Amino acid sequence: MTITIALSKGRIFEETLPLLAAAGITPLEDPESSRKLILPTNRDDVRLIIVRATDVPTYVQYGAADIGVAGKDVLNEHGGEGLYQPLDLNIAKCRMMVAVRNDFDYASAVQQGARLRVATKYVRAAREHFASKGVYVDLIKLYGSMELAPLVGLSDAIVDLVSSGGTLKANNLKAVEEISHVSSRLVVNQASLKLKRSAIQPMLDAFAQAVNK
Ligand code: ATP
Ligand code: MG
Repeated sequence: MTITIALSKGRIFEETLPLLAAAGITPLEDPESSRKLILPTNRDDVRLIIVRATDVPTYVQYGAADIGVAGKDVLNEHGGEGLYQPLDLNIAKCRMMVAVRNDFDYASAVQQGARLRVATKYVRAAREHFASKGVYVDLIKLYGSMELAPLVGLSDAIVDLVSSGGTLKANNLKAVEEISHVSSRLVVNQASLKLKRSAIQPMLDAFAQAVNK
């Protein structure tokens, strides 16, 4: 019985490493230097697959991976169908925010009922947020570098993830509204949990214990 764990490169991989270690799992290669997409671990029965952050829920939903780690931002856009989400790992923490150019008066625009153009990767979260405020928006779907959109007149505002605020500042943008707090969660394929419980449950327990330390 093999357990496949889906992770994305970068911060999620880095911040998941100590949790894997707590479950006795050590990757044998570094995804930043290896070109392999399937990484062996010290355990014969556990392998890692390296996928785009936004693809983690899809691999787990279809059972191509048994377990994955994905941000709440990504899970909310995906919808979470077929996924069991037993644990907030409290890693890759940031906030989803509305941001505009430094010289844009967001409060007045909203108060005057202006129709706002909003560029974002997070179309679902943005739609829900502005609908709940009763603000009319035209959403423009982007796949990255959202900060550019207000600078070149593509949009009035963006919805993006912010941690230090350094990227916003470097691009003459300011955060004007918080939508949600984001961290990464463990996701488990529901069928895998039933069929491979003897292998998966001890991992979940080890992760939970490591998170609560
Ligand atoms: P890709 O670059 O493959 O399109 P991505 O840009 O979404 O994917 P990352 O930037 O590594 O990939 O983000 C992965 C996850 O980490 C996000 O889904 C989010 O949950 C979290 N994250 C993103 N930005 C930050 C941040 N500034 N601080 C902390 N966590 C973040
Ligand atoms: Mg990125």
